[in-house]
Amino acid sequence: MSRQTNDSELRWFLRRNFAVILFLVMAGTGLYFLFQNFAGAEQRPFTVQTGGESAESLDGLAPQIGEQGYVEVGNVGQKFVQSPGPLKVAIVVGHRASDSGAVCDDGLTEVMINESIAQQVQVDLESQGIPVSLLSEFDTRLQGFSSDMVVSLHSDSCAVLDPGFTGYKTTVNNSPQSPQLQACMEQNYAQQTGLPIHPTTITDDMIHYHAFNKISAGSPAILLEMGFMYNDRELLTTNSAAAARGVANGIICYLQSQ
Ligand SMILES: [Zn+2]
Repeated sequence: MSRQTNDSELRWFLRRNFAVILFLVMAGTGLYFLFQNFAGAEQRPFTVQTGGESAESLDGLAPQIGEQGYVEVGNVGQKFVQSPGPLKVAIVVGHRASDSGAVCDDGLTEVMINESIAQQVQVDLESQGIPVSLLSEFDTRLQGFSSDMVVSLHSDSCAVLDPGFTGYKTTVNNSPQSPQLQACMEQNYAQQTGLPIHPTTITDDMIHYHAFNKISAGSPAILLEMGFMYNDRELLTTNSAAAARGVANGIICYLQSQ
């Protein structure tokens, strides 16, 4: 068969089936139009993956994906690595799994107080839908730990001191969010416990707290000395619910400010 025959056969075929071909072209165009304009939100991450979207439209997409429970995050790879993950509040129970901390003459130990209050904070926050992890003092998970916040609970000396040794104090790491966490914690803890701040007994160990150097630099962290075990004993033991409420409210205050 010559080329000429082929061409004329093709022309003949096109002429004879013109109506069918026109219909197929129009139907295809119509379907393409519908797909482009009415594709569901779950199609959009694929558009992003091609790199054709600006940073602004990426911001616009993040909440839509969040609303779908991150179902499609796996399809957009590294683009959403900074999307907020699940809420993570970690409380370090001061001295747990390490030593007893300060000890009173009658055997009351700091770690008992810290643990009791940490557990009350956990129950309180989890009843409000905020999951809390309790960590030990030198917990291996602290290395590179990344979370919404780390709160370390300690109590001060049980030595017999004059009545002026009463109150709480805090130190924080140098995350940009830490001043806000500190303000929330101090305000709420003072409000719930009625304790004054006692800044003159902040030690170097508090300022250079070991966990501050272990956790991820972007995670805010606070060390709270909840009171003196001798002069503030009642608050830290029989009235510990008030101390726990102060810590929990400080955490909620910070989360709501973000
Ligand atoms: Zn301690």
